[in-house]
Amino acid sequence: MLRAKRCAAIIVAGGSGARMGGPKQFLPLAGKTVVEWSLKAFLDTPEISDIVLVLGADDVLRHGPRLAAGRVRVVGGGATRMISVRNGFAALPEDAQVVAVHDGARPLVTPDVIRRTLEEAARHGCAVAAVPAKDTLKEADASTLWVQGTPHRSRFWQAQTPQSYRREILAEVLSRYSRERDATDDSQLAERAGHRVRVVPSTYANLKITTPEDLTMAEALLESREGLRRQIRTGFGYDIHRLVRGRRLYLAGARLEHPKGLLGHSDGDAALHAACDAVLGALGEGEIGMFFPPGDARTSGISSRRIVERVMQRAAARGAELVNLDVTLVAEEPKLRPHYAKLKRSLAEAFGLEPARVSLKAKSNEGLDAVGRGEAIACYAVAALSLRA
Ligand code: MG
Repeated sequence: MLRAKRCAAIIVAGGSGARMGGPKQFLPLAGKTVVEWSLKAFLDTPEISDIVLVLGADDVLRHGPRLAAGRVRVVGGGATRMISVRNGFAALPEDAQVVAVHDGARPLVTPDVIRRTLEEAARHGCAVAAVPAKDTLKEADASTLWVQGTPHRSRFWQAQTPQSYRREILAEVLSRYSRERDATDDSQLAERAGHRVRVVPSTYANLKITTPEDLTMAEALLESREGLRRQIRTGFGYDIHRLVRGRRLYLAGARLEHPKGLLGHSDGDAALHAACDAVLGALGEGEIGMFFPPGDARTSGISSRRIVERVMQRAAARGAELVNLDVTLVAEEPKLRPHYAKLKRSLAEAFGLEPARVSLKAKSNEGLDAVGRGEAIACYAVAALSLRA
């Protein structure tokens, strides 16, 4: 039945993500962004011939050129969801007969659910992906919190997207309710216009990314569904800097009182440099000199904490999580044992780790070679990262 119809999709991803502290549709998720997973599900649905992705104005410029290809067109959204859906609708081919409207923040939708909403919409006019309410529902007074009733759960469904429509019904809804702001989904407007809406049983995994917890669950579900195994990788880092008079001493991101400091293009913090190289080593991404070339005047004298930030951004972009750091300093002076707690705290803070995942210790070099003579401080570091295979 569906084969004879031209089917299209509007994916709305223009939200500001107020509850996530930024647009959630471009957050990294299992190796892609949230909206790319949503898009992939529609691209994997062969019945869909056209996809219009509606993005915020800035995102159209930033991501549009990369995402618009083949069956995908990218258009700008508007101030309300209705305007965004309208803009998407206006960009559809005129002969699209059945249209799925999907929230870009539901990255776990599957081609099966998409196809079934399209089939039901083609047959009955409107169809909404939904799941039966799992928990018992209580009706309660919003201010006093007294329960006022317990409706029979079996009658209740939680609406998701996609919500699919025959073209003429969606066109009618969009023109009749163009100023609508309060509708939490489009299908209730079809109901209001007198159309019957059919529920299409979906999966609980088709969750909407609204809070940081949703992102964690979506990541776990996608990793399991897609067989994206995580593995532990280790990296090793080493650094040494000369100890000279007239410089402040920074180690592990902390300032120590000492008449000498470490000579370097940055603040010379050998502990942070070795730890950063260990993280990059685990990622298989070279060493910090590639990000911060020693001759670059713009980075002269910078705090090595900025190097850490940059390295951890690389790790985050790869979906990697730092598991632990083990750092060994080799120094004749100053004596570092009295500063262990401070150095460890500072190291943990710089890398965003709980202190229990950080180890820091120091050795002397027994008077041997330049480190033993107190002319330099060296550092060795090992990092373990959890990342997708
Ligand atoms: Mg260095």
